[in-house]
Amino acid sequence: MTSSKAKKTRLITTAERPSREEAEAAVRVLLRWAGDDPAREGLIDTPARVVRSYEEFYAGYQVDPREILARTFSEVDGYDEMIVLKDIRFESYCEHHMVPIIGRAHVAYLPEHRVVGISKLARLVDAFAKRLQIQEKMTVQIADTLNEVLQPAGVGVILEAAHQCMSTRGVHKAGVTMVTSRMLGTFRTDPSTRREFLSIVGNPGVVAVSNT
Ligand SMILES: [Zn+2]
Repeated sequence: MTSSKAKKTRLITTAERPSREEAEAAVRVLLRWAGDDPAREGLIDTPARVVRSYEEFYAGYQVDPREILARTFSEVDGYDEMIVLKDIRFESYCEHHMVPIIGRAHVAYLPEHRVVGISKLARLVDAFAKRLQIQEKMTVQIADTLNEVLQPAGVGVILEAAHQCMSTRGVHKAGVTMVTSRMLGTFRTDPSTRREFLSIVGNPGVVAVSNT
């Protein structure tokens, strides 16, 4: 369903959030679980560092992605061609193993009335990347938010990423890239629009095939 809104994931409230001390204590448990002694010199400050790192890794939870797109420009002097921001590097974290997903996003839309500053597209990607994710969900969230807020004629989003949960554990396959895409509006219905987008971003993977 192209028109369905992305299902809103429930996030915890401020009251439910543990204290910094509780979070650091949890890291000490995991250090012991790994087989090391949290009290030894090299590890003494590690829980505090890990908890601070989490604030960076998961900064997306503090951002409202819709607000990023709130400021739009309507004076575009009749510009009605595709706008593409490609090769937006992102770092995300797999929600199953909490290890990095490193990749690139290509985000495009065909404006109808309004455009946003291009840095906003990169910030939109980060707002969803800096959370616990699966790549498919992140692709949908970026595309649907852009579609709902800007209401353009069409949206195309392609994500290409390597999953460290696949390269450093489990099947241990390095050098594998996963490609996901979501095409909405004219990007879905008009093959020439889709082709133009794919040729601009260099035809990653097999995304000419449709998606849901
Ligand atoms: Zn994983």
